Amino acid sequence: MPEGGVSRARTRSSRCAGFQFSAAAGPLPDAVLDRVQRELRDCRGNGASVLALPFTSKAFRDLAAEAVAYLRALLAIPDGYRVLFMQGGASAQFAAVPLNLLHGRSTASYVDTGHWSAKAIAEARRYCTVNVVASSAASGYDRVPDSARWMMDAGAAYCHIISNETAHGLQYRSTPDSGDVPLVADMTSDFLTRPLEIARFGLIYAGAQKNMGIAGLTVVIVREDLLGRAHPCTPSVLDYGVQVKHSSLYNTPPTFAIYLAGLVFEWLHAQGGLATIAESNRRKSARIYAAIERSEGFYRCPVQPQWRSQVNVCFRLANETLTPTFLEAAQCAGLFQLAGHPSAGGVRASLYNAMPEQGAEALAHFMEAFAARNA
Ligand SMILES: *Cc1c(COP(=O)(O)O)cnc(C)c1O
Repeated sequence: MPEGGVSRARTRSSRCAGFQFSAAAGPLPDAVLDRVQRELRDCRGNGASVLALPFTSKAFRDLAAEAVAYLRALLAIPDGYRVLFMQGGASAQFAAVPLNLLHGRSTASYVDTGHWSAKAIAEARRYCTVNVVASSAASGYDRVPDSARWMMDAGAAYCHIISNETAHGLQYRSTPDSGDVPLVADMTSDFLTRPLEIARFGLIYAGAQKNMGIAGLTVVIVREDLLGRAHPCTPSVLDYGVQVKHSSLYNTPPTFAIYLAGLVFEWLHAQGGLATIAESNRRKSARIYAAIERSEGFYRCPVQPQWRSQVNVCFRLANETLTPTFLEAAQCAGLFQLAGHPSAGGVRASLYNAMPEQGAEALAHFMEAFAARNA
């Protein structure tokens, strides 16, 4: 790892130095935080703090354009796709997607893989008939339903998936085929953690707080032919066509979050791009899954091996009464925020991009020692 590349996931001020495994927000790379510190008072000679940069200034427009350019390069976004910076989190997109993409149709297809699918489906039901074309609810969300068996509806306006179910720890291994129906994906928890074939999607959205910096910014990548036909009642701020027309500056955008995302994109580029990051993410998650497998049943992962997330590793202790002891001991060892999602329980280790490999290694060691002590 290059100098400054080690993440501040290692909290320096805590009693015992440690790593932060929260699923709700990812750590930031040290190199990015150092840069912010330098630019906080005077951003690149513009005489203004980056926190107070007016969105109307050339300085801010340049920063935003640079961020878009880095993102386009990282993902090799082809011509014919627009990048938008929006607000309201992924949750606003749960409404924006049907409002913008129904195009007068009355049905949309949704795949149900767990907690975030349910949220997206509930919101979409306010605007259209939702066909749940596949669900893994019956098996406790232990897999992604086989896409060959999805009950696809050729008349659907679009088909919506959650590429990584953050609460349950399952992830699509490859991009499913939705035929001529545009594929829409909420990638909030695994955006930029691996290369993507953008051309397979009609629309992708992701909140910034997990792999792109801080809360307040949502990135949307949308195919141009889907634009310009939003429902007339669509709020202007959620109208992709309006945002495209104004280069995402229809109203005051989250300037600091956009600046920070730009720095994170630049950092990812310096790490060697998404293929390199994906390899590192694979190694991090493999280390934890190996500790689970080698524990002879002390730990178990409810998700079937081929669908296990490389970003949110969810597991349980066979003796569930030991879970609070595990979490407390982990915290004392500097391994923070490991409790599972409230809807799932158990343990969850989130390994977003800025979590260094040493963090995964430290957790795996802790798990092995804890199992040895409590077997
Ligand atoms: C974290 C997360 C969200 C959260 O959405 P916000 O509106 O930004 O709070 C949505 N979808 C997925 C898949 C997530 O992991």
